[in-house]
Amino acid sequence: MITKEKCDISQPTDPFGSFQRKIPPGDTHPRLVCADCGFVYYENPKVVVGSVCEWSDRVLLCRRSIEPRAGYWTIPAGYMEARETTVEGARREAWEEARARIEIDSLLGVYNIPRISQVQLIYRARLVTPDVAAGHETREVRLFGWDEIPWDELAFPSVRWALRHCREVAGQAVYAPFANPPDDLADYHQLMD
Ligand SMILES: [Zn+2]
Repeated sequence: MITKEKCDISQPTDPFGSFQRKIPPGDTHPRLVCADCGFVYYENPKVVVGSVCEWSDRVLLCRRSIEPRAGYWTIPAGYMEARETTVEGARREAWEEARARIEIDSLLGVYNIPRISQVQLIYRARLVTPDVAAGHETREVRLFGWDEIPWDELAFPSVRWALRHCREVAGQAVYAPFANPPDDLADYHQLMD
């Protein structure tokens, strides 16, 4: 139950207490609308930032210690925090998950995962040093040669896309960022299974 005069989403004591899902007048989508004051809570897609981090001809992967997909390998990536840039977020995630200091090179891909309302911005990056270690959401970190990547043990389809795309532009200083590969519907279904 919200007892304030007006909902303040920055101080949510019970943000969904009296919210109902309905289409506000003039709107096109159902929203969470406060029954008391009319405040509309917009559920917009979340931005994930991450990087494919290279050291010479090897690439950094992290074995996840948390769900979803615990035990599977991923690139350092995660949700953007408020008041940071995408590059800052990618650097932060590399440090948090793999204790990796990185130099962001360029945007590798923009991947849309509409089923879960997610947009991923994945950068190509270089490790400043090969000294990496498991962070708090990681069981193990490792530098894989391109022919050693555990393709069948990757955590998410977009990890596979980013690795493939990074491989595709190896040695190219300039390239256009990639989008979802055309076969991504099959990848979604695989993720759901
Ligand atoms: Zn309210």
